[in-house]
Amino acid sequence: MAGKPFPNRSRLAALAKAMPKIDLHYHLEGGVRPETLASITGNPDIGEIRRQLTVPAGCRSLSQFLKRFDYVTPLLRSPRALSMAAQAAMAEAAAQNLCYLEVRFAPAYLATPEMDVPGAIAAVLDGLDQGSRRWGIPAAAILTLGLTTPVEENEAILRAALPWLGSGLAAVDVAGPEGEISLAAQASALALARKLGFPLTLHAGEAAPASAIARAVELDARRIGHGTSLWQNKPLMERLARQKIGLEMCPTSNFQTRAIRSWEEYHIREYFDAGIPVTICTDDPAISGITLTGEYLLAMTELGFTPEEMKQMVLYGIQMSFASRTMKQSLQNRVEQAFACLEF
Ligand SMILES: [Zn+2]
Repeated sequence: MAGKPFPNRSRLAALAKAMPKIDLHYHLEGGVRPETLASITGNPDIGEIRRQLTVPAGCRSLSQFLKRFDYVTPLLRSPRALSMAAQAAMAEAAAQNLCYLEVRFAPAYLATPEMDVPGAIAAVLDGLDQGSRRWGIPAAAILTLGLTTPVEENEAILRAALPWLGSGLAAVDVAGPEGEISLAAQASALALARKLGFPLTLHAGEAAPASAIARAVELDARRIGHGTSLWQNKPLMERLARQKIGLEMCPTSNFQTRAIRSWEEYHIREYFDAGIPVTICTDDPAISGITLTGEYLLAMTELGFTPEEMKQMVLYGIQMSFASRTMKQSLQNRVEQAFACLEF
């Protein structure tokens, strides 16, 4: 029996817009739009801000991609700027029809003599809280440690962040140029994070082979950021599926950083079919010049996922989120109801 015909592009665009969505891999620093940066800095030249912020078309590496942070991060080094950026993230979550958002940020790069690490954390959480209430969308924050930050500094950040664990801060992440340095360099900081009670989601297998993902799993990661090279290690794939270790995959970002060179090289379908919880995320939507709605559309038009499979990825996202059990149940009910109202 023939299945239902695959919806055409304009129908898929409407569906991508209407679907309830979830983003578990969103960097605050890479998410702040030129318009928000114009408000923060008082510089009205949005065109120039966009040129500085957005990744160039010919971007050839993760290191080149990460250079955009050198422009935006210094502009966010005040409580006012961080709160505004976090509020804007929630406004965008509402515009993109998100049911839940996890926002990560890196205090090591944001703190200054005038705004210490607790000050930076408090400012982000204040903005998220205000935005979350205003738009009625639950959110949580993830503390990103720098891969190249000295271990002792990361350990001090973890201790400073502890009072917010479970009160706005949900987990710890490590991000940086993984092609140049291994996660193992942060093993003692990550052991401390686990000892203090922080669950982990770790960037791995984006600019490094699958052995980097294996290391992240050994370090007790509950989720993996990207994991594009996972296909190289089939037993590890089976382990992720068995242990329900989720992948936060960010298609356009993975393309721009040259983690992949074409959609044919993107193994997201293989991971999904293997039963690994996969969810689509943005990474750095302002730097990449994308939206989550656009990424959902891309997943259907370029990667061949059906609307029904997109729903499964949203449900995976809820299951692998750092939300409470009660929150997950409520989000799942809302998503099931919303999808039931969409006609595929
Ligand atoms: Zn990331």
